[in-house]
Amino acid sequence: MSITVEPVGATRPARAPRDRAVDARDADARWLRRAVDVASANVAEGGGPFGAVVVAGDVEVGVGANRVTRDLDPTAHAEVQAIRAACRAAGRFSLEGMTLYTSCEPCPMCLAACLWARLDRVVFCADRDDASSAGFDDSAFYDLLARDRDTWDRTRVQELRLPERTRPFDAWRAQTARTAY
Ligand SMILES: [Zn+2]
Repeated sequence: MSITVEPVGATRPARAPRDRAVDARDADARWLRRAVDVASANVAEGGGPFGAVVVAGDVEVGVGANRVTRDLDPTAHAEVQAIRAACRAAGRFSLEGMTLYTSCEPCPMCLAACLWARLDRVVFCADRDDASSAGFDDSAFYDLLARDRDTWDRTRVQELRLPERTRPFDAWRAQTARTAY
């Protein structure tokens, strides 16, 4: 076995690929801690135990904390709040190229919001079982969505196919100045 000794000043990549992977993990951990800090501070202020940040590169674009009880808004989850703040700051409705860090695994609503926002990545810390142990329905909703709607024991979802059902889509397709999203 030989040992390669490189001469001083030899050219080689400044960072080995593995170093970059470790750096990326460190950055993820740092942003997750930021989300956890936001969540913890929110509890101290009377809100729910959830926080999220949207990040572009190494820049925080938007931050959100759960405001359900304070705003009387069941959709004011941390991820939704962070997405709204990031879109306002970025001046667009797509967060393509960005990452959302959240203190807890997104519920189905927030996961769908992340998809609609076209986020590149979602990184979470605690999971749905951790949330469940604190009394939140994330896990129950995931279980519900995996079942046939006819078996749901809450919020019945019903379809009534009126003849007018495609009228809005017809108008949309006819609208030449539409903004696709
Ligand atoms: Zn949510």
